[in-house]
Amino acid sequence: MFRTAIAGSLPKPSWLAETEKLWPEWKASGPELERAKADATLLWLKVQEDAGLAIVGDGEQSRQHFVHGFLAQVEGIDFEHKVKMGIRNNRYDAMVPQVVGPLRLAGRVHAMEARLARAHTDRQLKFTLPGPMTIVDTVADRHYGDGKEGRIRLAFAFAELLNQEALALEADGVDVVQFDEPAFNVYMADAAEWGVAALERAAQGLKGKTAVHICYGYGIKANVDWKATLGEQWRQYEQVFPALAKSAIDQVSLECFHSHVPPELMRLLEGKDVMVGVIDVASDQIETPEEIAETIGRALQFVPKERLIACTNCGLAPMRREVAEAKLAALARGAALAGERFA
Ligand SMILES: [Zn+2]
Repeated sequence: MFRTAIAGSLPKPSWLAETEKLWPEWKASGPELERAKADATLLWLKVQEDAGLAIVGDGEQSRQHFVHGFLAQVEGIDFEHKVKMGIRNNRYDAMVPQVVGPLRLAGRVHAMEARLARAHTDRQLKFTLPGPMTIVDTVADRHYGDGKEGRIRLAFAFAELLNQEALALEADGVDVVQFDEPAFNVYMADAAEWGVAALERAAQGLKGKTAVHICYGYGIKANVDWKATLGEQWRQYEQVFPALAKSAIDQVSLECFHSHVPPELMRLLEGKDVMVGVIDVASDQIETPEEIAETIGRALQFVPKERLIACTNCGLAPMRREVAEAKLAALARGAALAGERFA
């Protein structure tokens, strides 16, 4: 039987936040909002369990966005004066906060939802944090200096803070800490040169499993348009996988189904667990068990059975809730079929 997991995010219910948006506005404030975040976390834990997923998560219900949720607890960041910046090599514009002084963690970031999830599930619990390089690509720096040296200094400053939170999450009972690094697929040379080292700094001292998720982004129009320019073969992973294979990171999450990633690139991850994306997050079409089993079968040519985890290509946050629910159920059914077929 193949293990199953989601990349990380799930849609927020309409009573918690605006739906089908990457930066949704909350529907409540104060204690009422905190209660709503907790309720949504519990709801999605139950849906993941009922679907039959082996590894579950909080669905990122307590953060507005996967990067800015972490930054909200970081001192040295000015959220009052956001600036417009082209991110992911100008693929799209985002309003980003500015780094204006030395970075320091003001306190715990995700204690509430991590402890809540741990108290309510016996399954393996995975928790996601943004990776240092992707954070650097989602803020405007006014403090750590220009050029590559400045970006590296900033990345390692964030890596230290991420490490503090990751160690605390592990103490809360989290089994797998995953860092999301979509920027690795945009700045491949930098990722291999220093991004993986910054990632290792963020994961330093963790005793449980560590993971990295590298994708081609959420299923939003800017990403779909960008993918259309990448040609017949998407070989971005080829540049960073060798550095990851040598790293201390245990698991790598990648896009597979409906992507143009040559599956043989998974061979570069020898010795790692591979979270193979068998669910497309850019389409509302629900994958059939047959399609999922086929994708797993293709990956098995390059990944040993015991190292393969069936996963979604990316987070499901901007999708409709009922579509996401159906995709979770499909994921488990497809993995079960593959389990029978490739036993
Ligand atoms: Zn992703």
